[in-house]
Amino acid sequence: MSDNITVAGVSVDTRHWIGGRRVASAGTFTDHSPLDGSALGEIARGGPDEAAAAVAAAREAFPAWAATPRAERARILHAVADGVEKRIEELAIVETTDNGALLRSHRRGVMPRVAHNFRFFADWLLRLDHEDFETRGHTNHVSWDPAGPCVLITPWNAPLMLATWKVAPALAAGNTVVLKPAEWSPLTASLLADIAAEAGLPAGVLNVVQGYGSEIGDALTSHPDVRRISFTGSVPTARRIAASAAANLTPLSLELGGKSPLLVFADADLDLAVDLAVEQYDNAGQVCLAATRLLVEEPVAEEFTRRFTEKASALRQGDPRDEGTDIGPTIHPRQLDKIDGFVQRALAAGARAVIGGHRKDGQYYAPTLLTDVAQDSEIVQEEVFGPVLTLQTFAGEDEAVRLANDTRFGLAATVATGDRERAERVTARLVAGTVWVNCFFVRDLRAPFGGSRQSGVGREGGTWSFDFYCDLKNTVTAPEGWDQDHG
Ligand code: NAD
Repeated sequence: MSDNITVAGVSVDTRHWIGGRRVASAGTFTDHSPLDGSALGEIARGGPDEAAAAVAAAREAFPAWAATPRAERARILHAVADGVEKRIEELAIVETTDNGALLRSHRRGVMPRVAHNFRFFADWLLRLDHEDFETRGHTNHVSWDPAGPCVLITPWNAPLMLATWKVAPALAAGNTVVLKPAEWSPLTASLLADIAAEAGLPAGVLNVVQGYGSEIGDALTSHPDVRRISFTGSVPTARRIAASAAANLTPLSLELGGKSPLLVFADADLDLAVDLAVEQYDNAGQVCLAATRLLVEEPVAEEFTRRFTEKASALRQGDPRDEGTDIGPTIHPRQLDKIDGFVQRALAAGARAVIGGHRKDGQYYAPTLLTDVAQDSEIVQEEVFGPVLTLQTFAGEDEAVRLANDTRFGLAATVATGDRERAERVTARLVAGTVWVNCFFVRDLRAPFGGSRQSGVGREGGTWSFDFYCDLKNTVTAPEGWDQDHG
């Protein structure tokens, strides 16, 4: 087996990256492209041995990296960002070939944001501070101490963006990292290892291991030398990871699925509301934050549906490398089956497809809108993770909020209304980690990000990331000449 494959003209090493060296495994798994189902290559398939080696490398590299002055850590992270920016075209085409999301959004939005992840957390580190305070003459000093090796596990829907949103703060904090990308889209994590090494990140500070979660996951998450686990993925996997982490009470950050609502009030700018709704088909609906439940106030429901149908029907579905494409393929035949299973069960239960409701050629699924769905039905309660929206109507704010909050998730919510006071009343009552009013997907790395209920545990972003990735310490120093007995 060759150690390198060429993907859209870009050479990608298929081995793990452990302790500053490329490491092969006895076994491999095949990585397929969602563009045409073709095999892109054989990827090193890690298991417990590779997990142990990667954690050992991270442990060995930790003391020196933790002791590296903040300014030097920040300098290296900016150099990583420079490396990402130099390779935006390569990263974008490899990511699109590997996971099927739009090339234009990888080029213009996602990969620049990957670089920004490194710059932002490097700069935030330099500003990270808490004012000292006094207790009867004693000084309290709060510090963010590096915690140790971190295991970061990421999904396939936005591979490098989600990986670096964890890698950057973990490294900035002075920790070392073992990154495990998803088996359906592992390639850009390997390129990141190259970029980090070229930027001067010392050996062992970032390690990348590949493989199936079921084979390598437990050895990573139950390892006693691991000090933090940050996971983005599905709720069932999160449960397994939490159980595994319980062995050592390893602190966890969990960013999970959602079933987020878009509430459209009758006083909303209806064209804006329709635009917000149609945007939910981005990345073929494989977006954790997607507002997949359209809740529309009764008086405007018919008109909303008419305008939505017109706009959604004009979306161009096809090759994600084409500038003109709006919706690409789903990631994998298994994901396509899963999506279609949800839709066919909903139709059998009495739902009506306003648009879509079926597969198309290749790995494409028709953008779908289902109505006549019951609040307690599977299609309203469970995350589909495909281009499938439901539409329900409501009468008044109370019913809107009740429907919006009535799932086990709480990742995000979007409200379309022309009334600022209504927006304040409604957003105050919504259970969600992020609420957007008359907008969608506006994200700032200074903001706390995460989900309520089963959409997650904890928050990352800005100082919250450092709170998670660090051991917070308060040091209390007595004044000169302090006599503990007599004060
Ligand atoms: P998944 O849970 O199947 O897999 C995610 C990762 O976990 C993969 O790398 C996988 O290999 C690994 N894994 C699987 N079993 C494991 C185990 N036992 N131990 C350790 N690791 C294991 O999720 P997915 O299908 O890749 O991603 C889709 C899900 O991710 C959706 O539910 C989506 O909502 C969620 N997601 C959430 C966010 C967020 O920020 N909240 C962002 C993107 C995606």
